[in-house]
Amino acid sequence: MSGAPAPRLRLQDVSKRFGGHRAVDAVTLDLEPGEFFCLLGPSGCGKSTLLRMIAGFEAPTAGRICLGEQDLTGLPPHRRPVNMMFQSYALFPHMSVAANIGYGLKGLGRDAATTRVADLLRLVRLDGFGGRRPDTLSGGQRQRVALARALAREPKVLLLDEPLGALDRGLREETQGELRSVQRRLGTAFVVVTHDPEEAMMLADRIGVMEAGRLVQVGPPAELYRRPASRFVAGLLGDVNLIAGTLGPEGPDGVRAVKTAYGTVHGTVGAPLADDAAVVVAVRPEDIVLGGLEGLPVVVADATFLGDRLRRTLRMPDGTTLRSSGRPGDAVPPIGSDTRAGFAAGAAVILPA
Ligand code: ATP
Repeated sequence: MSGAPAPRLRLQDVSKRFGGHRAVDAVTLDLEPGEFFCLLGPSGCGKSTLLRMIAGFEAPTAGRICLGEQDLTGLPPHRRPVNMMFQSYALFPHMSVAANIGYGLKGLGRDAATTRVADLLRLVRLDGFGGRRPDTLSGGQRQRVALARALAREPKVLLLDEPLGALDRGLREETQGELRSVQRRLGTAFVVVTHDPEEAMMLADRIGVMEAGRLVQVGPPAELYRRPASRFVAGLLGDVNLIAGTLGPEGPDGVRAVKTAYGTVHGTVGAPLADDAAVVVAVRPEDIVLGGLEGLPVVVADATFLGDRLRRTLRMPDGTTLRSSGRPGDAVPPIGSDTRAGFAAGAAVILPA
């Protein structure tokens, strides 16, 4: 489609208050041109409000939203070079698929509009469906019509609020791949709101995690998963063990010791911390190694077969549990045995308790 390089979307200290409630609190963010960005967070953290401010449906209480040199903050939605796709799709039931997609193209001229609609149908793999009515399509096909319609006017940034929320699990995974592939081919920046961490990790170049109106961490999926900056982010992105202790001295390579009730473990610091601070050591279940000579004393309390993984519940002497996850064929101690749960310092992130 349009070959001009896309400008950067820039949010500067954007806030939104509803009465006394800060729905969005001083969010600053630069979105790279052509980037696939996911806003991730629990219900009510302000994701949709932030998206609606970028679209222009909601005015910020403070801050600025710019696209390149252009200040969008005061512009109405239809004057912004951005578009929004809603979870409900909001297709017109009495119009054909082609008419739905071409709805916003009235100013373009008949031939140009017809060509654009044909291009879009091809883009979302719906060639030959132009004459159908939305109610004769599957959920996944309707989703693709809505996507094509949202892209028709070639927005610089497409905003998508829970775009796959209406699809069941199997179709959702397939459509995630499709959404990603359409975005790559077009090079349009996408901002997707989701509360599903797996979806965010699968789709995004970068994820922005929101907590209570604030953007608390931004980074590529692997960085957020491996190097979370808080307990909240660690827990949001997947299963994690949090082992309580006190921060000890720094060792070689920036590795710090943490004194726990059952001995010293090591990790790297993920957030600013004072000496002797109360901390937790965050370790993913797949990073726990059983049966070594070092580590925390545990009893293997339970094991659950999950097909590609075997998940174990490990109990420490005080009754607190850890979870480990490994391949089903791994040689590890059976249920009931005493063993040690260790992990590499590089796999453990030390965070404020
Ligand atoms: P969800 O995933 O459930 O959609 P969200 O992260 O998108 O949640 P928002 O819809 O942005 O959250 O809402 C953030 C907060 O702002 C919530 O506490 C919500 O109740 C409040 N809020 C949103 N819109 C309004 C409004 N028009 N008037 C008053 N409060 C609002």
